[in-house]
Amino acid sequence: MKNCPACKTATLESKSLEAHLAASQCISCDGHWVRAEDYRSWLESGAQAETTIAPLLTVEDSMSAVFCPDCSQLMRKTNVGHDLNFYLDQCPCCQGAWLDRHEWSHLKSQNLHVQVHQMSSSAWQHKARQSRLRSTVRQAFANKLSSSDYSEAERIKKWLEVHPQKQELLSFFAASA
Ligand SMILES: [Zn+2]
Ligand SMILES: [Zn+2]
Repeated sequence: MKNCPACKTATLESKSLEAHLAASQCISCDGHWVRAEDYRSWLESGAQAETTIAPLLTVEDSMSAVFCPDCSQLMRKTNVGHDLNFYLDQCPCCQGAWLDRHEWSHLKSQNLHVQVHQMSSSAWQHKARQSRLRSTVRQAFANKLSSSDYSEAERIKKWLEVHPQKQELLSFFAASA
């Protein structure tokens, strides 16, 4: 019996996360521990096509340091990206992943549950940081502008992004009237 890496007060019990995806669950905080080899064999089995849709409930992301239940290494906080505002804890040594309560259903909602093994790569982390930065910037503008101005500005921005004369239009906007 291993102790839960997050709440540390309860032990982990074997419980599958999906059909054919073996995992351990904490009965106290409802987090899941998924070993890299179990995750890999689930991906290879093709059973991920059969996942069920679960309701999306708020994630309570544990921000404290989490140690791997298998090899006791300090786990890395992996930025999920894709506008999902939580981190996965991944073991740098055995590549196992700790999922806080409800994180799995949020990953499924974005079809990211089949890409957990790629998230610790530096390319993924770079993209995730960029996307987080962009959403912070968007949020800052959304707070400054009225909601109708903001949605109008978003509309123009989208139109401008793909416009072949983007530079000319930007100069036009910047030029004094
Ligand atoms: Zn727990
Ligand atoms: Zn480990």
